[in-house]
Amino acid sequence: MSEELYNYIDGQWQRSAAADYVDVTNPATDEVLARAPLSPAAEVDRAAQAAQRAFEAWRRVPVVERVQYLYKLKALLEEHVDELARLITQECGKTFRESVGELRRGIENVEVACGTPSLIQGYNNEDIARGIDEHMFRQPVGVVAAITPFNFPGMIPLWFLPYAIACGNCFILKPSEKTPLTARRLFELLDDLGLPPGVVQLVNGARETVEAILDHPAIRAISFVGSTPVAKAIYRRAADRGKRVQAQGGAKNPVIIMPDADMEMAVRVVAESAYGCAGQRCLALADAITVGDAHDLFLEMMADRAAGLKVGYGLDEGVEMGPVITRESKARVEGLIALAEQEGARVVVDGRGKRVPGYEGGYFVFPTLLDRVPPESQVERTEIFGPVLSVFHVRDMEEAIRLVNSRQYGNMASIFTTSGAHARRFRYEANAGNIGINIGVAAPMAFYPFSGWNESFFGDLHAQGRHAIEFYTQTKVVVERWG
Ligand code: NAD
Repeated sequence: MSEELYNYIDGQWQRSAAADYVDVTNPATDEVLARAPLSPAAEVDRAAQAAQRAFEAWRRVPVVERVQYLYKLKALLEEHVDELARLITQECGKTFRESVGELRRGIENVEVACGTPSLIQGYNNEDIARGIDEHMFRQPVGVVAAITPFNFPGMIPLWFLPYAIACGNCFILKPSEKTPLTARRLFELLDDLGLPPGVVQLVNGARETVEAILDHPAIRAISFVGSTPVAKAIYRRAADRGKRVQAQGGAKNPVIIMPDADMEMAVRVVAESAYGCAGQRCLALADAITVGDAHDLFLEMMADRAAGLKVGYGLDEGVEMGPVITRESKARVEGLIALAEQEGARVVVDGRGKRVPGYEGGYFVFPTLLDRVPPESQVERTEIFGPVLSVFHVRDMEEAIRLVNSRQYGNMASIFTTSGAHARRFRYEANAGNIGINIGVAAPMAFYPFSGWNESFFGDLHAQGRHAIEFYTQTKVVVERWG
C-alpha cells in the first residue's frame, strides 16, 4: 500500500478524512509513489479558519522580521536542492538538470521577496492643502490561496508563497494532485522555519477542493496557474464572490525564424524550448513560423536534432528528455499528432509508439516534428502540451506577424534574426506578454512580472516581483490635519 499524503493545517500534519484518493505516479516507471487525498470542503474551512486566526498577529509582525523567515527558507532550499530536484523528476518526469533549473527560478522568488521591506513602501505628500498631509500605506489582504499545476511543482508555489507571507498575509496552497510530493517536502522545510501556526497551509485535492477554496468567504485572493478553461472558470467564480484573482492559463507559443537568423543557434535553442520538459512548459515554443528561404534549412536541421535527442528517465545519466505526465496525456498527444496528419500536416519526425528500454511502462512520447500544418486546422488551435513542434511557412515578416497575432493565447512569442530592425518591429507589434529575441524560453526573472496576455491570463496583476506585492496588498490612503 503506497503512502497517504497529509494536509498541513495550523502548524500540524493532519490526516485527511477524504473519501477518495488519487494515485501519484512516476511517469517514467509507472510506479505509484503515493496517494493524494481529495480533501473535502470541511478541511478547506479548517485551513481558512486557522489562517484567519493567525492573520491578526502575523500582520502585526514587522515586515523586517517577517522576511527573516524567508532568508532561512532560502538557505534551507539551497541545502536541499538536489533532494528536491530528484523528487520533481520522480513525480513530474523532467530531467534532473531541468528540475534543478526550476528550483533555481523558485529560489530567486524567495530572494526577491526578501526585499519586501522596500517593495511594500507607500508614498506621501505634505501640504496637499495648507497643514494637511496625505499618505498611502500598503496593508495585507488577509487569507490568500494559490492553486498550482503539475508542470513546475517546485517553482510555481514559490511564485506566490514568499510574497504573500512577506506582505503579512496567511497562505493556503492547493498543489496539483498529479505532483503533490514536492509541495509536501517544501512544507516540511517550511515547518522547520518556526513560523507561527496558521501562516502557511497545504491542502491536497482537485476540483472540489478548489471550489471550496473559491467559495470560502474568509479567503480574499486567489492565484491560479493551469490550463485556460480552468483559469477562466476560476476567474469567473472567484470574481463573482468578490475576490481578487490572478489566473494564468495555457499557451501555444510561436517563434518566427527569419532567413537572416543564425540557423545553428536558432535550431539548438528552439529545440531546447520545444522538447525540453517534454514540451510541458507554458513557455515552450510550439509553432515555428519560417519566413522565405529559412524553411528548408530549418526543417532539415530541426529534424536531425529532434531525432537525435536522448529520451529516458530523467534521473539517468545523459537523458535529454523525459516522459509526459500521465498515460492519458500520452494518448492525447499521440491522438493530436494523428489529427494533424488527417488535417494535412506532414509528420517529419514521428514520436508515437516508441519505447524506452528498461522503462516499458513509462509515458514516453518522443520528439515530433510536423511540417506545413494548415493555419486554420483544429490541431493548430489546440494546446498540445507535449514534445511536438509544428512548422508553418510564410512569405514575409508581415504574414508571420499576422499569424503570431491571430492566436487566442499570448503567453510568449519569439523571433530569431540578426537584424535589429526586424527584432524591434517584432518586439513592438507581437501580441504577447513575454517576448524572446533570439531566446527560446523568455521566462521573466523574479523581479519582473510573468506577463501573459489574452487567453493566457485573466486578471491584471501578474505573478512575481512588484506585481506580486501589489496583488497581495491593499492600499490605504490617509488624509490628516493636526490643528
Ligand atoms: P489544470 O488546469 O488541469 O490544473 C491546474 C490546477 O487546477 C490543479 O491544481 C488542478 O487540481 C486544478 N483543477 C483542474 N481542473 C479543475 C477544475 N475543473 N476546477 C477547479 N480546479 C481544477 O492544469 P495542469 O494540467 O496541471 O497544468 C498544465 C497547464 O497549465 C497547461 O495548460 C499550461 O500551459 C498551464 N501553465 C500555465 C502557466 C503560465 O504561467 N501561464 C505556467 C504553467 C502551466
